[in-house]
Amino acid sequence: MKKAQICELLYKKELAEGIFDFRIKSGEMADVAKCGQFLHIDCGDGTLLRRPISICDVYDDVVRFVFEVKGKGTKALAQKKVGDTLDVLGPLGHGFDINDDYQSPVIVGGGIGIFPLYQLSKLVNNPAVYLGFRSANRVVMEDEFKSVAENTQIATDDGSYGFKGYAAELLKKHLDEKPCDIIYSCGPMPMLRAVKKIAEDYGAKCQLSLEQRMGCGIGACLVCSCETKREGTEKYAKVCKDGPVFWADEVTLND
Ligand SMILES: Cc1cc2nc3c(=O)[nH]c(=O)nc-3n(C[C@H](O)[C@H](O)[C@H](O)COP(=O)(O)OP(=O)(O)OC[C@H]3O[C@@H](n4cnc5c(N)ncnc54)[C@H](O)[C@@H]3O)c2cc1C
Repeated sequence: MKKAQICELLYKKELAEGIFDFRIKSGEMADVAKCGQFLHIDCGDGTLLRRPISICDVYDDVVRFVFEVKGKGTKALAQKKVGDTLDVLGPLGHGFDINDDYQSPVIVGGGIGIFPLYQLSKLVNNPAVYLGFRSANRVVMEDEFKSVAENTQIATDDGSYGFKGYAAELLKKHLDEKPCDIIYSCGPMPMLRAVKKIAEDYGAKCQLSLEQRMGCGIGACLVCSCETKREGTEKYAKVCKDGPVFWADEVTLND
């Protein structure tokens, strides 16, 4: 059973309106964290449940996470100041399958789903990275991704920056022209459905990180259940414990 840790907030920066880069002194978490795992954070201000936030990067004894303010929890978290402490449970869940056999990985992210893909982009061999945002003023971490993955391309839904359209369209274009031995993806459900379908059509291996609403974060409640192709009592997996990363052909992404 994992114990919560009290971690000092070492660094805080607002990358775009309502999107915050936090770095915490993590003690032993930094030594054991696997790429794609998440933290379950007590945001304070009377929020009963912890909020799950992906690990964006790890260095020295520092864990970095980036989050967008959505509601009560993330709003309270955003009020924290450097020097304050955070009550953090983690690292939790199963991360990405990173394997030296993969020579031409493609990474596809959208919105808040891009954050766990930064560390992944550093760890895999020469990835092509396609990142989707709503519009130019929501684009963050572009230079950082480009510094670790020179084949990084940005898409915006409204065409105000980069490619006009969805990151999944760039994936399809890539698969028409170039090799790919694995696709990794994280982002909103419609994007994950599109990526899963493209992977099936092209016969590509694919891992998806599901950022589903969550309760306990440790597999004790059923809030984050997702349907899988398994039979019987194993049919429903818990995103917090069995995921958040799943093989695409394992899960059913219902509407
Ligand atoms: C494994 C995992 C990793 C995540 N990693 C990140 C991350 O790195 N950065 C980040 O910004 N967010 C991440 N999220 C989403 C984040 O947990 C939610 O945005 C947060 O819990 C919302 O809490 P709140 O109290 O601010 O909002 P609430 O008041 O709980 O909700 C406000 C709004 O946010 C929506 N919302 C709540 N949960 C989610 C969710 N999981 N996904 C999308 N919308 C949601 C609600 O439907 C509502 O519209 C992750 C979620 C999971 C499950």
